[in-house]
Amino acid sequence: MPKLLLITASSAEIRTVRRSRFLNFQQITMPYLAARVPSHWRVIHIDEEAEEVNRNLEADVVGITFHTPSAYHAYDLAAHFRSRGACVAMGGPHVTLLPEEASQHADVVFIGEAEGLWEEFLMGFEAGEYRRTYRQTGVPSLKDVPMACKALFHRNDHTSGVLFATRGCPNRCDFCAIAVLYPNGLRKRPVAEVAAEYASFQGKVIIFWDDNIAGDRGYAKDLFRAITPYGKWWSSQASIHVGQDDELLEAAARSGCKQLFLGLESISQRSMAEVHKGFNRVEEYARTIERIHAHGIAVQAGIVFGFDHDTPEIFKDTLDFLEQTGVQNATFNILTPYPGTPLFRRLEAEGRILTKDWRKYNSRTEIVYQPKRLSRSELLAGFSYANERFYSLLSVAKRLSRSPVQLWWTLPLNLAYCASLKAARLHQGTGLLTVGIAARGR
Ligand code: SF4
Repeated sequence: MPKLLLITASSAEIRTVRRSRFLNFQQITMPYLAARVPSHWRVIHIDEEAEEVNRNLEADVVGITFHTPSAYHAYDLAAHFRSRGACVAMGGPHVTLLPEEASQHADVVFIGEAEGLWEEFLMGFEAGEYRRTYRQTGVPSLKDVPMACKALFHRNDHTSGVLFATRGCPNRCDFCAIAVLYPNGLRKRPVAEVAAEYASFQGKVIIFWDDNIAGDRGYAKDLFRAITPYGKWWSSQASIHVGQDDELLEAAARSGCKQLFLGLESISQRSMAEVHKGFNRVEEYARTIERIHAHGIAVQAGIVFGFDHDTPEIFKDTLDFLEQTGVQNATFNILTPYPGTPLFRRLEAEGRILTKDWRKYNSRTEIVYQPKRLSRSELLAGFSYANERFYSLLSVAKRLSRSPVQLWWTLPLNLAYCASLKAARLHQGTGLLTVGIAARGR
């Protein structure tokens, strides 16, 4: 029986940076890939967010997926398992963004989405004939996607319900790796198949691991209607467009949507224009948040600091705005130009990339490019200020007192974030902290 070890790699540094996160969701790439492995293989999955890799494990094939800041750690794991005779296959965001680099550390690399190619590789491996590079040149169908292998999930608590309905995004924001990883825009699984997987989870709470759940409003409405009968609660990421359609919001609320991660990014319209996200109309933010709240849905704002139009005032102005609008949660990031994105190319052409040490591309503790209207220390201090102020008890009181969304779960969630921020401060001895839900690939 051939043995397959799947690793969702996460370096020690990244785990430390994320230590203050109250919620770390189950990663699903490997459980979905595992569902495509022939049944005679023995499959183990290690998600390093949840447990250490046992380096003594024996495997014929080791598959590793990782994001940019964990690249060197993933290469170290690869070297270790190759030295033990395993065939190491790598894929995922960083490999797709920088395949030449990754291929120096692996026996096999997957560029782009692995569906179809993954099965081809496993068959080839058993036959003793496989390629060094599997590059996705087609557009894999999202019909008949096998349900993720729940036996390989590490979290069996309330967050264990994770799945995806769509892949990619119709937009093309310069700083976002999603558009590079999924160049074919937004693709959708059949609604009935998504609803069946949604219904298959025992837990009440479901996370749609989509990049933009409302990227196609018609599809989203159909999906929300299809999952309504199951009476679960769910959350996902969405672009600002979600708040411009009351029918969509009503369908979302009725189906159990409790919170949306909204990519607001900045309260500076010039910053939004600068990164080709001008469809985010800053003057409409407050009204959009109000409309979402009116449907009983909480807002988690995704905020990025460090755009070229950001000045030292941006931090206080942003926090004032978030408190005035009663936003329930927020994730703050330092602008990070991931390799392969238009933003990276522009900053590199301008001579503003300061390092290509991928460990520093964590969006939380390092500035990897030269900002324009802020010094690097101002940016770091402003980022720290934003986290500290947003999750201070005073801010929680201000925001939630203005929030029409029920307190019975938004208040405990905020208090948990406050406690987790405090714990991280004690652990790290630094104010450079992170609080919030991961925004995949951003
Ligand atoms: S930032 Fe959001 S809206 Fe823009 S491309 Fe990425 S996922 Fe789409």
